[in-house]
Amino acid sequence: MTLTEKIKEAIRTIPDFPEVGIQYKDISTLFLKPELINEIIIESVDLLQPYNVEVIAGIESRGFLLGAAIAAKMQVPFVMVRKAGKLPAKTYQETYHLEYGTATIEMHCDAISSGKRVVLFDDVLATGGTLVAASNLIKKAGSIPVVACLIAELEFLNGRQILENAEIGVISIVKY
Ligand code: AMP
Repeated sequence: MTLTEKIKEAIRTIPDFPEVGIQYKDISTLFLKPELINEIIIESVDLLQPYNVEVIAGIESRGFLLGAAIAAKMQVPFVMVRKAGKLPAKTYQETYHLEYGTATIEMHCDAISSGKRVVLFDDVLATGGTLVAASNLIKKAGSIPVVACLIAELEFLNGRQILENAEIGVISIVKY
């Protein structure tokens, strides 16, 4: 089996969660397979090699799980992008629109020094709204969001297009 096939087999799809009509990709079952997680880390490091990565920024909360492991493997710092109100020191904030209402994410002002090449890491790319907001946080810190790295991409939601319009590359291991 290829890595893609193994990941697809390990991720389960929960229909109508958290609301009717959403096919939720549950990666909790992926993390029950440590050898597969290790393969994903190795593959991600490999795919990121051409980008001269200096920092990985993980998106709360599932972006933390592999983001930190990949950063450790690449020997680069890992930075948390969190939902509003969770980070204790001074933060940059970015508010963005969801299907209903808005959301705010934050990053510590002193987490990244300026001019760094930053990877955004999350588990699933859906509409791309969260990653565009995260890329704005990186820019507020004076750094460069170069590429978004995901375990899985929901192609029918066209998140890739939104990110590429913002001049951010997209790497995903599996596509639905
Ligand atoms: P986005 O629409 O790309 O801003 O996605 C917002 C967040 O929700 C991201 O962290 C995604 O990982 C997560 N997400 C959105 N849709 C799904 C889905 N169908 N299954 C699992 N996670 C999802």
